[in-house]
Amino acid sequence: MDSFRHLYLHIPFCRHKCGYCDFNAYAGMDRLMPDYVDALERELAYARERFQFQQLETVYLGGGTPSLLPAELASRLLSFIRTNFNLAPDVEVTLEANPASTDETRIAAWMEGGVNRLSLGVQGFDQRALAVLERRTDAAQATHAFRLARSMGLANVSIDLIYAVPYQTLDTWLETLRRAIALDPDHISTYCLSFEEGTLLHRRRAAGKVPEVETDLQWDQLDAATSILEAAGYRRYEVSNWSRPGFESRHNHAYWRCRPVYGAGAGAHSYARDGSTAWRWWNVARPREYIAASPSPRADGEELDARKANAESLMLGLRTAEGAAIPAGFDDEIASLQKAGLVERLNGRVVPTRRGMDLHNQIALAVL
Ligand code: SF4
Repeated sequence: MDSFRHLYLHIPFCRHKCGYCDFNAYAGMDRLMPDYVDALERELAYARERFQFQQLETVYLGGGTPSLLPAELASRLLSFIRTNFNLAPDVEVTLEANPASTDETRIAAWMEGGVNRLSLGVQGFDQRALAVLERRTDAAQATHAFRLARSMGLANVSIDLIYAVPYQTLDTWLETLRRAIALDPDHISTYCLSFEEGTLLHRRRAAGKVPEVETDLQWDQLDAATSILEAAGYRRYEVSNWSRPGFESRHNHAYWRCRPVYGAGAGAHSYARDGSTAWRWWNVARPREYIAASPSPRADGEELDARKANAESLMLGLRTAEGAAIPAGFDDEIASLQKAGLVERLNGRVVPTRRGMDLHNQIALAVL
């Protein structure tokens, strides 16, 4: 099995469960945090014995809300990683933060622990859209958190935004983009809101309590994002991600390039490869069960044969501007995508066109 060079840690705690969220995230479980960090350390120590890890190129603390961890627990976890893994000198260490839990003490602990990239879950600056999403943060908190991180020396800060939110007009979305750009982040992610089954927002829409979002408006919002962000110097390097040159997320690139990633924590997924075969496995999802199961919290997994592994590599590579190497056995699929104007061949690779990036779901359907 190829060695791991990328590490993901899942921190499943949240102050409140947002209405649109279907991530493995839980409110009201903060008292489990110390035991959870113990369990993460046990899992990581065990993984070190069972798998080959080379110098880590990226570490990503995602959630949930990693910024909710008290500063001393975050410091302990980051120090454990530094002590037990060999980190590349230019390792990218990202932490996802909610503006409401981004304060001076925590930022100092993160930076001291090696965090050099902050992904700030802003989601929007427009109160009405934030209310639909049931976000409990506002524009003032987001702006304050961003400026604080910058003033303390964080040189790589990303902002997440959501569009296609009920009641969000083209104008309010444009204003959100302008306010984001005015902060001068290095990276901006824009996600199209999806109504996932099992979420409160899905139930509210089914009950007619929130309106549908017109498809034309969604397209106009995506189009506006592409124009305004590119004009401001951000390059769209993935379906939902824009960055200044050199600030692309290296960790997320590892997923899109199908590199082995070890995922630790509740519900975390790992991906490994050996030649043409790949494996994916995932941990038990609920924090309490995860704590009890650590150091071997694996719930289930699957082996991907060469055809399936190659199809996934192609589909994920085609999310990105760099595209993918052309695997054997996909000539018909690529020819029909080319005919539909969704991809093109370039220097021995296949890359998505602008239309292909906008309609990536059609690429996925054709390839998988
Ligand atoms: S803060 Fe993020 S992970 Fe937590 S509930 Fe809200 S959307 Fe989900």
